[in-house]
Amino acid sequence: MLPTIFQQAVPVLRKLEKAGYEAYFVGGSVRDYILGRAINDVDIATSAYPQEVKGIFQKTFDVGIDHGTILVMDEGKEYEITTFRTESAYADYRRPDKVEFIRSLEEDLKRRDFTMNSMAMDRDGIVKDPFNGKEDIHNRLIRTVGSPELRFSEDALRMMRAVRFVSQLGFGLEPSTLSALKEHSKLLEHIAVERKTMEFEKILQGKWKQEGLNLLVHTNLYQELPNLSRYSEQLKYSANRSGLDKLNKNQTWLLLLTHFVEDDIEGFLKDWRLPTKMIRARSKELEILKEREVSGWTKTLLYRAGLEAAVNVEKVYGCLKESSDFSEEKVMEQYHKLAISSRHELDVTGTDLMTWTDKKGGPWIKELLSDIESAIINETITNEKEVIRRWLKTCNRL
Ligand code: ATP
Ligand code: MG
Repeated sequence: MLPTIFQQAVPVLRKLEKAGYEAYFVGGSVRDYILGRAINDVDIATSAYPQEVKGIFQKTFDVGIDHGTILVMDEGKEYEITTFRTESAYADYRRPDKVEFIRSLEEDLKRRDFTMNSMAMDRDGIVKDPFNGKEDIHNRLIRTVGSPELRFSEDALRMMRAVRFVSQLGFGLEPSTLSALKEHSKLLEHIAVERKTMEFEKILQGKWKQEGLNLLVHTNLYQELPNLSRYSEQLKYSANRSGLDKLNKNQTWLLLLTHFVEDDIEGFLKDWRLPTKMIRARSKELEILKEREVSGWTKTLLYRAGLEAAVNVEKVYGCLKESSDFSEEKVMEQYHKLAISSRHELDVTGTDLMTWTDKKGGPWIKELLSDIESAIINETITNEKEVIRRWLKTCNRL
């Protein structure tokens, strides 16, 4: 029996077939099924042209119609249905000059990147595998469909994808695929940063990220990634930390950043076109990590960090020191013991301070609130309006 995720999509294939077309499951879902891995989403390929697909289903969206992809809603679920196609003449190493819709499955499978990604499965679970993807999966090998030189020159992103699959699956690169990758790594410069970043972040999340990161260095691909060209040793060093596999994406970023000598870490990350929120968070964590290293966790540092940053910092710190003395549980426990976790929880407001002092608003309020905040975090006083007022009086601040 096919896994539920495929079974639910069988009616979609049936509808396409009933209208006289071929339809198959393709790509990552078939690969992951054969591997026994969790399947995220099923992609469907069909001999029906985009307009024909639109005629068959009631609710469709043109998400990538130029490339033959229609998003179809069926029984409340979304499916990407892509017309069989060929791609021709890659003049700029990144996208096909021309996409041509075709009726032949074999031709469609030929344009796909790796043998493990070039299988098609019909609704009965019968797999078409013209490039021996199953065998390569069995041997844990990543191999391009056809000449690796040609396939990497057509679309240089495939080289990043190869390393990403190494990191996700723990497979090796078939020897001629590996040597072509080394030879053509420079072509990655033609690829848009956003697309490189997307694959890089998948490398950082893979179970075999150690292998992935080492391979980025070994193949020289790292030289075409933003600002990494002078950090081969640091990348290898980070890759080989034990405990790396326990870090999530953000924590792995942080670990890498600790080894890079940069005056402007935000600028460094901006060049990767990462979201501002992510950039700020990593840069803050990096500062917290440095302080944690020098003086350990003080209440003030924990408070300033916030729970998420504190946990990220502690995990990375533990990984750097390769010691189990550090545990995020301990940090969480300490954090939850803090008297307050944000300024909003203070039992006084600026208005209280103005009433008590009979003074007009101004920058002094922020300053005073900040001193109150420190006194509460350091447990000099408790967070109660009356206690705060008395304390301010004793300190001659009222
Ligand atoms: P994931 O599980 O991460 O989604 P995936 O293999 O499904 O992995 P997608 O990017 O979703 O990756 O692509 C779907 C399929 O499209 C691939 O399995 C492959 O057959 C084909 N493909 C994707 N990108 C390329 C490319 N750059 N060159 C050739 N074929 C590609
Ligand atoms: Mg996919």
